[in-house]
Amino acid sequence: MSDNRRVRVRFAPSPTGPLHIGGVRTALYNYLFAKKHGGDLLLRIEDTDSTRFVPGAEEYIIESFKWLGVKFDEGVGVGGENGPYRQSERRDIYRKYVDILLNNGNAYIAFDTPEELEKLRNDIPNFQYDAKTRSMGKNSLTMSEDEVKAKIAAGEKYVVRAKIQPDEDITVHDMVRGDVTINSNILDDKVLYKSADDLPTYHLANIVDDHLMGITHVIRGEEWLPSAPLHILLYRYFGWEDTMPRFAHLPLLLKPVGNGKLSKRDGDKLGFPVFPLLWNDPKSGETSSGYRESGYMPEAVVNFLALLGWNPGLDRDLFTVDELAELFSLDHVSKSGARFDYEKAKWFNHEYITKKSDEELADMYAPLLKSKGYEPAREVLVKIVSMVKTRISFVADLWQETNFFFEAPTEYDEKSLKKHWKEESPKLMADMIEILNGIDDFKSQTIEPIIMDWIAKNEYKTGVVMNSFRTSIIGAARGPHMFDIIEILGKEETIKRTKVAIEKIK
Ligand code: GLU
Repeated sequence: MSDNRRVRVRFAPSPTGPLHIGGVRTALYNYLFAKKHGGDLLLRIEDTDSTRFVPGAEEYIIESFKWLGVKFDEGVGVGGENGPYRQSERRDIYRKYVDILLNNGNAYIAFDTPEELEKLRNDIPNFQYDAKTRSMGKNSLTMSEDEVKAKIAAGEKYVVRAKIQPDEDITVHDMVRGDVTINSNILDDKVLYKSADDLPTYHLANIVDDHLMGITHVIRGEEWLPSAPLHILLYRYFGWEDTMPRFAHLPLLLKPVGNGKLSKRDGDKLGFPVFPLLWNDPKSGETSSGYRESGYMPEAVVNFLALLGWNPGLDRDLFTVDELAELFSLDHVSKSGARFDYEKAKWFNHEYITKKSDEELADMYAPLLKSKGYEPAREVLVKIVSMVKTRISFVADLWQETNFFFEAPTEYDEKSLKKHWKEESPKLMADMIEILNGIDDFKSQTIEPIIMDWIAKNEYKTGVVMNSFRTSIIGAARGPHMFDIIEILGKEETIKRTKVAIEKIK
């Protein structure tokens, strides 16, 4: 078989809407596989079904992979020697292959109208167009050649169907599942071409293009496994067995709880995205959230998705994309579905966020702050971010962790007050103001020993003093190191907030 050829794989989406996260994983596995073997990854757009075409879907797909850092070597948006890579632009190429199948007797022409087919379906239980039933249809096997020619000349619409031989076992040698054998009796004579739009259907276009584009491995979702036997037959009809790609059908992504395939509804219900980017549906006007807009980092999404259904067998979860490619192997892809664990996705994002430098994070945070009307100096923001970064999973979480640097509290947390604001707190805070007032070098390291000495000398309870102070400044007994906070706020603001607290807290 194709073993010593250069590895060439493809991602071949149909632009029928936003790319589901399962499709993203399929593309990612193709990418990792190509990278591992020093091969090529192609992007081919399978848009032969014009009834399902959705405007904007192709752009969305391209933008998604740009964001994720999945790079294509050839294809739509990249170019290459085997183009065009949009199937709707390859009409002229396909006609020839339709003729080959008609001429070698592996396909035939059929004129049955939708109404006639409907009637057959109603009259015959479990009807399918196949070796047993094709004699009942209006096709080139039941009509004379002249009749067929006359109909075509009269402009009657027809389809070309595969002529599947009955009673034959067909085995798919799947790199994930092992050998899967089915009998050809369960296959129907699939439509391969429609004269109405002069386009092949998915099956024919897919096989012809994989062949012409030199594809060595077909890595795709398990929903395509039932098509594989027909695809194998098509390779045989064309005499292309020697270069037939190897198949690998990937396990489904399953719902976080319960049974079945992960759907958009699961995401809506449980509050997580199932699409890489935000999507505005042009038909329904409905908006679906995306990983990008929800604050995910592309590296985290890549790492998370790579491990949904594949496991390198090491006792760690964090891998760079280069490591993933190095370790990737189809033998370690699981046969059973992979349960989607959204908490784990968040965990990955947390891990990747914490790895960012303070400077990078500050720059990611700055636009959000700006939208709220705050533009702190970069060094200040870097310091602020460094104080809280281990507490966040998303950049947007930074606001909740740092809002008090920008806005004085307008109310005080009940619980914190109940626990820490004692009868003596107003007096303690008043004394605190006195001391702070006397400190000229308003730096954390200078302030801390002075305050601590004062507490010790007077035998105050540190918890009461510091948490009363904290609540005065922040509005609650939370947040990073108190003296670091007030260094950034500055003396004036610190004293002002403490005064307000004494007045306002009863
Ligand atoms: N056009 C198919 C899809 O939308 C491609 C399936 C395949 O990779 O063969 O997924």
